Amino acid sequence: MMEDSPFVAAASVLVPMPAERPYTYAVPAGMCVVPGSIVRVPLGPRQVAGIVWDGTGEKVDAKKLRPIEQVFDCPPIDRAMRRFVDWIAQYTLSPPGMVARMLLRAPEAFDPEPWIEGLQRTFAKPDRMTGARMRVLETAEGGLAWTRSGLAHAAGVSSTVIDGLKAQGVFETVMIPPRPVVAAPDPGYAQSSLMPDQSDAAEMLRTNVAAGTFGVTLLDGVTGSGKTEVYFEAVAAALARGKQVLILLPEIALTHAFLDRFQERFGAKPAEWHSDLPPRMRERVWRQVAEGGVRAVAGARSALFLPFRELGLIVVDEEHDPAYKQEDRVFYNARDMAVVRGHIGGFPVVLASATPSVESRVNASQGRYHRAVLSARFAEAALPDLKTIDMRRAPPARGGFLSPVLLGHMRQTLEKHEQSLLFLNRRGYAPLTLCRVCGHRFGCPVCSAWLVEHRFRGQLICHHCGHNERRPEACPECGTLDHLVACGPGVERIAEEVVARFPDARTIVLSSDLMGGVRRLRLELEAIAKGEADIVIGTQLVAKGHNFPNMTLVGVVDADLGLANGDPRAAERTFQLLSQVTGRAGRTGKKSLGLLQTFQPDHPVMRAIVSGDAEAFYEREIAERERAALPPFGRLAGVIVSAATRAEAEGHARGLRRAAPQASDLFVLGPAEAPLSLIGGRHRFRLLIQGERRADMQGFIRTMLAEGPKLRGSVRVQVDIDPQSFL
Ligand code: ADP
Ligand code: ZN
Repeated sequence: MMEDSPFVAAASVLVPMPAERPYTYAVPAGMCVVPGSIVRVPLGPRQVAGIVWDGTGEKVDAKKLRPIEQVFDCPPIDRAMRRFVDWIAQYTLSPPGMVARMLLRAPEAFDPEPWIEGLQRTFAKPDRMTGARMRVLETAEGGLAWTRSGLAHAAGVSSTVIDGLKAQGVFETVMIPPRPVVAAPDPGYAQSSLMPDQSDAAEMLRTNVAAGTFGVTLLDGVTGSGKTEVYFEAVAAALARGKQVLILLPEIALTHAFLDRFQERFGAKPAEWHSDLPPRMRERVWRQVAEGGVRAVAGARSALFLPFRELGLIVVDEEHDPAYKQEDRVFYNARDMAVVRGHIGGFPVVLASATPSVESRVNASQGRYHRAVLSARFAEAALPDLKTIDMRRAPPARGGFLSPVLLGHMRQTLEKHEQSLLFLNRRGYAPLTLCRVCGHRFGCPVCSAWLVEHRFRGQLICHHCGHNERRPEACPECGTLDHLVACGPGVERIAEEVVARFPDARTIVLSSDLMGGVRRLRLELEAIAKGEADIVIGTQLVAKGHNFPNMTLVGVVDADLGLANGDPRAAERTFQLLSQVTGRAGRTGKKSLGLLQTFQPDHPVMRAIVSGDAEAFYEREIAERERAALPPFGRLAGVIVSAATRAEAEGHARGLRRAAPQASDLFVLGPAEAPLSLIGGRHRFRLLIQGERRADMQGFIRTMLAEGPKLRGSVRVQVDIDPQSFL
């Protein structure tokens, strides 16, 4: 046998690679690993961090096994999290290693945080006393350890004073453990007194948390009805039981106010988690979540992959938001995966929204989820009065996009010293530029898309691949000078119209193009909340969760914009977005108004919003989905084939179609050229697979991929289970 082998065992290790199974490594004698240990292993010429996985890995001749190099001094990834990774891999048809990769995104955090050098008071006395020295000694009274600069700062002296005292032995060097990224939240810090319906809902959530078992509650209530207030009670209950809590938010980087609000309730901020966090902070948060020091996290969808050890509650706020869907490498919906995580971990999940997804509404009505309803805005806050503006009857002046009706209300709002918001979900100046002489249109050279003019930057930009070019003076086709025209509006163009109409108003444009990134956006949002702007023009960034107390008019520039894109969720999405945007108005009791510019005032979405009868709208949408056997009544998946040439992409897609198993409960539509048939120089074809709820979608696609043509050349295949985008 292997008597003289230096290795005592083998372990399977999941590495952050698109491999179907864990790899097997030798465990050197004396090394101790358990499932979940984070280890460093050789992989080809490189070294990577991986996770010791359950079960056996790829079979390898024992003599050829390479050894695990190092076990990191890090709490192991717990069993629930490991099962979660396997589950997502299986469900989304992604290699488990690619799912694990999302968990291993903070490599520096695998080693413990270093202790820092600090100073502590000894019994020694300084040779002589000065005012500065006195202040230092008073500050350091009580025996706590200080950093050199921290002590100097707190005592208001220069660091040399501290050095002098240290030289005399008045302070000695001690090592201080790393500081927590956030203080511990206190569940009883500042409980609010709830209104009767709020309190019923809170009680329901608290009971679920106390039971400590899996269950999903849909918390359904208009904006401003106190959903946050209510789910904070569930958070308090989970914290009180010694559990960690995760709150998912769609735009956490921008909803800074949420952190303050959490602090008011719990006496400390939650740890933040999103892609704009500085790397060092990310690592500290990751580490402290793993060690259990961080008790509450507010994060973007990727926070689902933090190494919690005692997770006891997930809240998904704005559960309907499309931002929860990741469409990159591993295609997953964080809302749905949060529910799976709760199921595996045996704890409750709360989904909150003023405009729940049809999926969640159906799950609630069929009894899979509980539903708690808050029907009124809190206190005196009244919902805005909502009206459509029929653009056929009240058209804008030539060259403009704002109807005289909207402009009139904007003027009145200005006169009252209140704020207006104009919403248009389109960045830049104009979505299309053409030559008036020859009709040439400016398209992206590598995408099937028009270039969007960004006038502030003087560029034409592709919103799909980022390609940009200077806007020329002359048409590249016919050479005529100064005859290029912008077609249609973006927010920059609306701003131009507003400034021309209201030259004295303070106008701000907010979109993700703003120079200075997230930090700048946050500042602008705070400035708006403080009343430092009269008219705000923005994309969907302004729709999400912000509280602008003085905003009493919301105008939707083009309410029809999202309706015409052939997406089965177009009506639902438009309803959600428009409800959310108009919900920015009137949060403090002032009379407020929401106006929708539309060419289809009789469209069911417009009617639902104006009448406030969301129920009728949902009923209709749900019936429609059921009739078409679309989710949640049926199963749907997309398969996107892309390649460097159209022929390759189409050929491969056809091959997949031929390889589809003969199942009675699932059928394949397509392949069809994708609406965005070219992105970044890659040609795209789509297959859509649809069928009954009980059908084995994953098995079907797996067979299709295995039996279909081999991946060759530039061909890439992406599977999108429960697709949200059909482009
Ligand atoms: P939602 O999350 O449904 O939009 P919020 O929880 O943000 O609603 O509540 C809207 C506003 O009303 C907030 O400013 C909140 O502090 C206040 N509010 C709601 N319920 C209460 C309550 N019971 N006591 C005090 N303030 C409340
Ligand atoms: Zn492009």
